[in-house]
Parts: sequence; C-alpha cells; structure tokens
Amino acid sequence: MSSIYTGPVFEMARNQFRSVADYLEIPEGRRDRLLYPKRAITISCPIHMDNGEVAVFQGYRVQHHLTLGPTKGGTRFAPSVDIGEVSALAIWMSWKCALAGLPYGGAKGGVTVDAYSLSKRELESLSRRYMQEMIPFVGPHIDVMAPDMGTNEQVMAWFMDTYSMYQGKTVNEIVTGKPVSSGGTEGRREATGLGVAHLIGRSMERLKMTPSASTAIIQGFGNVGSYAAIELARQGVKIIGVSDHTACYLDRNGLDVDALIAHTAEHGSLKGFSTEAAFDPDQMLVQPCDILVPAAIERVIDADVAGKLNCRILAEAANGPTTPEADAVLDQRRDEIFVIPDILCNSGGVIVSYFEWVQDLQQLFWKRHEVLDRLRGLLDDAFQRVIDRVEKDKISHRVAAMAIGVDKVAQAKQTRGLFP
Ligand code: NAD
Repeated sequence: MSSIYTGPVFEMARNQFRSVADYLEIPEGRRDRLLYPKRAITISCPIHMDNGEVAVFQGYRVQHHLTLGPTKGGTRFAPSVDIGEVSALAIWMSWKCALAGLPYGGAKGGVTVDAYSLSKRELESLSRRYMQEMIPFVGPHIDVMAPDMGTNEQVMAWFMDTYSMYQGKTVNEIVTGKPVSSGGTEGRREATGLGVAHLIGRSMERLKMTPSASTAIIQGFGNVGSYAAIELARQGVKIIGVSDHTACYLDRNGLDVDALIAHTAEHGSLKGFSTEAAFDPDQMLVQPCDILVPAAIERVIDADVAGKLNCRILAEAANGPTTPEADAVLDQRRDEIFVIPDILCNSGGVIVSYFEWVQDLQQLFWKRHEVLDRLRGLLDDAFQRVIDRVEKDKISHRVAAMAIGVDKVAQAKQTRGLFP
C-alpha cells in the first residue's frame, strides 16, 4: 500500500512490525489495519518572532489506533520532525502502552523547529499556537499529549492553559507531564529516567552484576538521561561517560553527576563542563562499559556500531536508538549483550503519565511514594512478561516485548470489529 508515511524512522517501525507479525503469524490481510495510523493531522503554526517577522512552523499529530481507549503520546520540538518520524513514534507508543497494560492507543506529535534556537517568548507562542490548532482533534478522552524532546513541563502548562481558555474552564487532564502546581503528578518529571534505572537494576540482578562494581555511559543528558544518571549513581553505579548535543565527556575514574546536573541547570547544556574529560562523541557508544544508555535520538546504533558495542547491558532509554540491521547483529550477540528494548525500557514515562491522567480525572492526588511504588510494580510486571516470553519461545527481548504489545492490540481489534 502506498501512503504518506515514509522515511527511515517509519521504515524502521514498519520492518520491526513485519518481523513481529511474521512471528505471531498474523495474516497479511490484517496487517495494514494494525500498522497504519488511524489519523494524521498536519498544521501550520505562524508566530511573531522577536525580530518582528512572522515565521511559519509545520506541526503534526498522529493518532495510531483507538482500539483500547484514547491515544497518548509526547510532543517533540526538533529539526528532524516530519510525518514519518512522528508516525513511527506513535506506532511504538501503541506497542509500549499495550505492553504496560495501559488503556491507550499510541500517538505522537511535534513541530519541525530547533527548540534551542527560540527565545522563551517565541517558545511560548509556538506552544500555544500548536495546541490552539490541535483543539478540534484532542481531548481528555480522545488524545492526551505529553512532553518529549525539546518540550518540558512549562510547555505542557502552556498547552493546558491554551486548551482550558477555549473551554472556559480548567481542564488539566488534557495533557500530562505538567508542573505539580498545575495538576501534574508527583514523580512524573523523573519517571522515565527512574524507570530506566529500575529496569537496569532488575537486569543486573538477573545477570548477577554488582552495581557498585559496574560502570555506565549515557548518551543524552536531558530529562531522561539526567534522571537515569542520578538514579544509577544512587545505586552505586559509576557514571564514566555522558554526552549531549553540545559536548561529550569520558572519565574512567567516574564523573561527578551532581556537578554535571548543576552545570546543565546553570548553562542549559553540558558545554564547558570540563576540558580534561572531553571525548569524541562518535566513539563514545563503543567504549567499554557495563551499561550503555542511549537517551537522546533515534538510529544511533547501526549494524557497524552494534558489532563494536562493548557493554553487557544495552538499556534503550531513547525511542528507536537501534536500527533493524543493528538488531540482526545484536541477535547474534544475544549471550554477550542483554538488551532492554525501548518500549519496555522507557515506559516509566507513559506509566506515570497514565497515573497523572487518572488523578486529574478524579481530582484526587497521590503521594510521591504511592506513584513510584505503583510505577515499579507495573515495570516489574512488564519486565517479567518479556522475560517469560523470551524463555518460552527463544526469541530476542525486542521481539518478545513487541509481540506482547502487538498481540494485545490485534486481539482487541478482532473482538471489537472494524471501527477502532
Ligand atoms: P530532552 O529534550 O530533555 O533531552 C534530549 C537530550 O539529548 C539533550 O541532552 C540533547 O542535548 C541530547 N541530544 C540531542 N541530540 C544528540 C546527539 N546527537 N548526541 C548526543 N546527545 C544528543 O529529551 P528527553 O525527554 O530526555 O528524551 C530523550 C529520549 O527519550 C527521546 O528519544 C524521547 O523520545 C525518549 N523518551 C522520553 C520520555 C520522557 O518522559 N521525556 C519518555 C519516553 C521516551
């Protein structure tokens, strides 16, 4: 079937789906319904720039399926954003929500823009305009947005405020990942990174590794990477490498995570943190370490990098960091490298977003320890389901995780009929 969904990231999602559909023996005639998004919205967002000119930015929102409930997914402000990338991310969200047992289909949206180049006022204008254009297509029981690369709690507060202004009342259940002061939940900010570190901990237990004798390298030091670093360091893991889009550092004696956090809080990025520890970003992923955490962008591990990886655990905190060609290599190296696939590894974010939505709908708010206890419970369940499937069918962790998600959506579609 020819479609508007093209590009390398969409191809990746499609190829992964094909292998899982083959494994699940889903008939050809049912596959397009499972793979192709239900809706794709494209918009133009004109805003006044600080220099007095009007700039127009392209925005997207893709809602993958409506079979299990409303759609749910992040909003990305990045130069790479296009309909293919957003669709792939929406599809991955569907398998992720189904694996975690959440009552959602996947969605994703974004704007093609370098968020770092905007002033705070420009970012607010763009955020408000994006939500304003999306009002006819979203709602607390239709599609619920969240943050992703280039967006944060403040952007979610602007989204919520813009939607609420048009409804004439406060509707804080329209987005998740908001500040706690605006109906957000305790624990959401750190949820994804904490979840990544929790699953690394579970994997270390299985592999009989000792945290205090282990080292980690983390690519990406934004929301996910920084909280994963804090939590891994708290468990006793030595963080020997970190990078972001501005700088890369490696120190085998260990980097000071608190100092890295303080530096990024003050300067907005890792740039200028150290001259002695500066390292080549192209070589970072293949350096020897026990735990490798890609927590930035897609497709950073291709077949060549996969062949050279020198880690025991690959914890995919980012969405889609590993290409299908790299997967084939990792399949050969299954005994050497324990992969925590993205749809499991970073699912802490959407799990706590789900908790936030539930609390907003009920206007009954939980304490931080309740949020985090429930988070660990759902992560442990999903982790165990993946491990059981791997052991039963002798398949890779990724195929097992995706198969559980795809199977759940496929079964719901079969029982409901053609509508959703
Ligand atoms: P963020 O915008 O807070 O941080 C992104 C980080 O990646 C920044 O430090 C940026 O400098 C860095 N980066 C960008 N390009 C890079 C490059 N080429 N090399 C090295 N570093 C680079 O975004 P985030 O929310 O932390 O998201 C990171 C990843 O995690 C994305 O793939 C996102 O889809 C995924 N994710 C995020 C959440 C969440 O709750 N925020 C949930 C699930 C998955």
